[in-house]
Amino acid sequence: MKSDILILGSGPAGYTAAIYTSRAGLSTSLVSGLMPGGQLTMTVEVENFPGFPHGIDGLTLMENMKQQALRFGTIIINGYVTSVDFKRRPFSAEVDGMRYEADAVIIATGASAIWLGLSSEKKLIGKGVSACATCDGFFFKEKDVVVVGGGDTALEEALFLTKFAKKVTIVHRRDALRATKILQDRAMANPKIEFAWKKTILDILDVDAGKVTAVKLKDVESDEITELKCDGVFIAIGHKPNTELFKGQIELDEKGYIITKKSSMETNVPGVFAAGDVQDSSYKQAVTAAGTGCMAAIDAKKYLEGKTIKL
Ligand code: NAP
Repeated sequence: MKSDILILGSGPAGYTAAIYTSRAGLSTSLVSGLMPGGQLTMTVEVENFPGFPHGIDGLTLMENMKQQALRFGTIIINGYVTSVDFKRRPFSAEVDGMRYEADAVIIATGASAIWLGLSSEKKLIGKGVSACATCDGFFFKEKDVVVVGGGDTALEEALFLTKFAKKVTIVHRRDALRATKILQDRAMANPKIEFAWKKTILDILDVDAGKVTAVKLKDVESDEITELKCDGVFIAIGHKPNTELFKGQIELDEKGYIITKKSSMETNVPGVFAAGDVQDSSYKQAVTAAGTGCMAAIDAKKYLEGKTIKL
């Protein structure tokens, strides 16, 4: 199947790009990926997306974007891209064994949660270890849980978990949080939230029991090792760009983010554009993802019209 534009990813960047390209009359196919709707579908309430004065839940926001793209004729392919070829034209991508071709591609594959990298963590995923409070918080009614990290995600996860858990301990490796002040204030004021400052997680117990019973903490200054009893551990230490597929095809920076030009969303391959968290290591907001999705769509349209993008 061939279209003018192939969009990879179904977060705010992908859907915004699709709304713009399909509304501009370009045939547009969008591959949803492993997590249709992207990371926002794991957020209970999005309070800072403009236009929603009382907030909106992430799932609804993404479903609205999807419906808006469908309204203008975007074809949604429910599947996962296993390989791409940006060396030949038309460009192509393989999705679950099917080949899709396009004259321009917009990559909006986003980013995924980073894990601590402990072997116990890996063994206990789904058995008390999680990277998504929205998905798994419900299982921790009246339990004690730990959240690791000091950014917006960690604090949002912790605040959400207080709806279910008896106690939430935020384990952070420093004595200052990276999260925005409003979230810090809410977390500090919440009686169910405690902080374990300047601590890292050495191990998660108990692999043999097949469930989480405690975390082994190390104090970064004194090296003292302590155990904190808990029933669940939520990892919220940041995200990495989903760019494995594109290695060797387009230029990536040292952290794996796609490099786009200074004044457009084009990559080093003419006709291949990138938008959203996959090319953004600093802002990472739903609204900036949507904004760059719009920019990539306009750039892709200009490219297809044979116009030179101003450098
Ligand atoms: P982040 O801002 O990169 O924060 C990651 C946190 O994890 C930091 O506190 C970091 O500690 C800690 N950390 C990193 N690696 C660690 C390790 N190996 N062991 C222990 N701790 C570790 O990531 P994020 O919170 O996922 O946020 C990502 C972006 O999304 C940010 O731009 C954020 O503003 C945005 N976001 C916004 C909202 C919202 O506006 N509602 C919600 C969620 C996320 P250090 O502080 O010591 O580096």
